[in-house]
Amino acid sequence: MAKKIVSDLKVKGKKVLIRVDFNVPMKNGVITDDTRVRAALPTIKYVIDNGGKAIVFSHLGRVKSAEDVAKNDIAPVAKRLEELIGKKVNFVNATKGKELEDAAKNLKDGEILMFQNTRYEDFDVEANKETKKESKNDAELGKYWASLGDMFVNDAFGTAHRAAASNVGIASNVKETAAGFLLEKEIKFIGGAVDEPKRPYVAILGGSKVSDKIGVIEALISKADKVLVGGAMMFTFLKSQGKNIGASRCEDQEFVDLAKSLLEKANGKIILPVDALVNKAFEDTKGVAKSVDAFDQDDMGLDIGPKTLELFSKELAGAKTVVWNGPMGVFEMKNYASGTVGVCDLLAKLTKEGASTIIGGGDSAAAAEQLGYADKVSHISTGGGASLEYLEGKTLPGIACVDEK
Ligand code: ADP
Ligand code: MG
Repeated sequence: MAKKIVSDLKVKGKKVLIRVDFNVPMKNGVITDDTRVRAALPTIKYVIDNGGKAIVFSHLGRVKSAEDVAKNDIAPVAKRLEELIGKKVNFVNATKGKELEDAAKNLKDGEILMFQNTRYEDFDVEANKETKKESKNDAELGKYWASLGDMFVNDAFGTAHRAAASNVGIASNVKETAAGFLLEKEIKFIGGAVDEPKRPYVAILGGSKVSDKIGVIEALISKADKVLVGGAMMFTFLKSQGKNIGASRCEDQEFVDLAKSLLEKANGKIILPVDALVNKAFEDTKGVAKSVDAFDQDDMGLDIGPKTLELFSKELAGAKTVVWNGPMGVFEMKNYASGTVGVCDLLAKLTKEGASTIIGGGDSAAAAEQLGYADKVSHISTGGGASLEYLEGKTLPGIACVDEK
């Protein structure tokens, strides 16, 4: 089954409610990275270029106090949208009320309206109380926002794993709901890997903790043909095999036991590193490559080693679908970025050979972008938690609420 896309809608003359992800990083009211605003442009442009009236909104940060309200004013983002799209953005500094209703009513074809941070509805300023109306999908709020428009487009993947008034709430109260182009891409790539991966299907997992990613590890063990493990989580697995991991980062015994049972369940599918770059302290000085069987007590593993990269390269050869979450090492330190860069290179090569290569969210996505691989892989997901839950095979409410074609 395929989901309806914004380009399937007849937007001419219609008020199109567009939930975008404008949750940009800000410092003292100044946007430090506008990638998310740029990423939302195609969907908004499509609507206005086809004679629709765009009503755009997003959450920004968390709003649990009066200070949060002041801190997370979304007005600067509306300004940035105006600059990037080259058209006036009529910003309403409210999430409800007559001014917003009139602005929506008077909007002309091809015009853009944006309203204040949807999470302002999570906090009642007068009562000085947290209400979570937006985040807990308050029924009245979704209905109210839906009443401002004729149809709804969800283009916010980062929040698709939670039912909120601004996604599920609106969708339940309008006649037609479609996915924006960004959400479409997430469905195509992550959804595609989950539902019908071309095989061989190889997953690569890294990052800091096994405990953060139990659900994904379990899902991938059952669905992928191979699961390659790096990052700090490798040490929890290696310890469970009785190896001396020295001073490397490792989790509590409970998770070492869990890692052991995951290895048993995986029945040879999990491939663990054979060497690591070690240092004597958690610092960015040159490391030494050591076999995982030869650690000293004070060795701290900060990246996968060259032999492991070779092993991963062999395991990945011929893969048709590759999903990757979690950096292979402490990539923030230049001496320990080689594993992560190496995996990026392997993915870039496989992409050229026609494989579908997907980087799933969080720090790994940031690493791949930073290292210049954004255009060299098939898809870098824009969601952190949402990508993980989607990869687990869970139904995401923000996708489920979109109409089928
Ligand atoms: P993601 O956000 O991609 O899911 P995580 O948040 O799980 O990834 O993990 C990212 C963090 O893991 C990075 O900050 C990285 O420095 C850290 N990390 C990776 N390998 C190691 C290691 N060997 N020792 C300590 N930290 C590590
Ligand atoms: Mg992270």
